[in-house]
Amino acid sequence: MHPRLGEDLARLPELLDAVGDRAAHVLAGLADRPVVTPGAPGPVEPLPDEGSGTDGALKLFAQRWEPGFSGSAGPRYLGFVTGGATPAALAGDWLTAAFDQNVSNRTGSAAADLEQETIGWLRGLFGLGEAHAGVFVSGATTSNLVGLAVAREWVGERRGVSVTQDGLAALGPVDVLSGAAHSSIGKALSVLGLGRGALRQVRTLDGREAVDVAALADELAALDGRPAVVVANAGTVNTVDFDDLRAIAALRARYPFWLHVDAAFGAFAALSPAHAHLVDGLDAADSVCVDLHKWLNVPYDAAVQFTRRRDLQVAAFHNASPYLGAPTGDPDPVHLAPENSRRLRALPAWFALTAYGRAGHREIVERNCAEAARLGASLAADPAFRLLAPVRLNVVCFTLAGRPAQQDVDALLRRVAASGEAFLTPTVYDGVPAVRAAFSNWRTTATDTDRVLAALRAAAGAS
Ligand SMILES: *Cc1c(COP(=O)(O)O)cnc(C)c1O
Repeated sequence: MHPRLGEDLARLPELLDAVGDRAAHVLAGLADRPVVTPGAPGPVEPLPDEGSGTDGALKLFAQRWEPGFSGSAGPRYLGFVTGGATPAALAGDWLTAAFDQNVSNRTGSAAADLEQETIGWLRGLFGLGEAHAGVFVSGATTSNLVGLAVAREWVGERRGVSVTQDGLAALGPVDVLSGAAHSSIGKALSVLGLGRGALRQVRTLDGREAVDVAALADELAALDGRPAVVVANAGTVNTVDFDDLRAIAALRARYPFWLHVDAAFGAFAALSPAHAHLVDGLDAADSVCVDLHKWLNVPYDAAVQFTRRRDLQVAAFHNASPYLGAPTGDPDPVHLAPENSRRLRALPAWFALTAYGRAGHREIVERNCAEAARLGASLAADPAFRLLAPVRLNVVCFTLAGRPAQQDVDALLRRVAASGEAFLTPTVYDGVPAVRAAFSNWRTTATDTDRVLAALRAAAGAS
């Protein structure tokens, strides 16, 4: 063994304590850390020939890289839909690495069973029934990819071809219909060979991002019985609008289509009695995407993919070989997802759900929604700003008063970011350059919202 490895092995408990202390120090300062930082520390360093051990690496990291890492896990990072990591989730993540299980199969470890227990809990949390089988994947983009791969196989089944066996040429073009699909849907269609061009945007309701179900019915009728894929949206990123899932599902009595629901963060509406109606009908979906590294506040990378047709999922992803075995009644994870070898990404979620339960996670969701509503109300009442949509859940979509140009909004966001107080991301909504403030972090309190509001007011006043 190389001497550095030998020394580290001998001192492992002490080294883990040092790393723990470092992490505790960083997390204690998270709320006061600048929300965004300038980035890379300068030119790249050469690879060391003689390493400096874990001690040396920790020292160099703290000195050289740590200052450039953002406070994105903190309470006033409202960009994208981000979330942080609760203490229990972090503990689960550390132990995931410590045990370093390969959850590709069930041979000789209970890790895959822990994943299944966690999937069952999540199903309950989001109001899904037993008919939805689930698997952990790396994020909502991969979850959408897997859901649409199953959808593709389903269209093949209807047309009497196996796409996974005979390839796309045997299938021909597929119609994918959606009102306001997330960009990751286009990416998934690209990877699956269906093509970004397969996605057809269906008219949305006036002033909304929710699909017009009557328009969707017309589009489906025009397909003349050709099986299609409908991507319904349960929480759009701009205004967190929700398609009428029940009404869309009911269309299956008249038209053949696979219903995939992208509920990346919107599924968490189910945890709040005041908002649960937004995801009414989610259980009727053929496949569902839910992100966990956003609103469950587990570290990256974690999401789940649910489907009612596990057989078709196995058709797409099975990896049979003499040494791995063939998929049987309850297939190993290796047969369900793009990866073969995979980390136990269920463990942080298991820890979080065990530590805080349904009530703890409901409190996070409700507090985030309450703060979003409060920020929305304050901005609506402020003559410097204009709200662009009602705050339906956890995102405030707004812009500057008057007719702001893109550069005005960009300048506003630059000033806010430079204050170190908050980070928000831009969008364009209904042709208007706009800003989104997305609440999904477990640490965010009313004090943080007040600081965000003050930073926005100062930045708008400075223009
Ligand atoms: C974030 C998000 C995605 C993509 O999620 P990743 O975890 O970044 O892959 C997909 N759909 C919606 C609605 C999202 O909010």
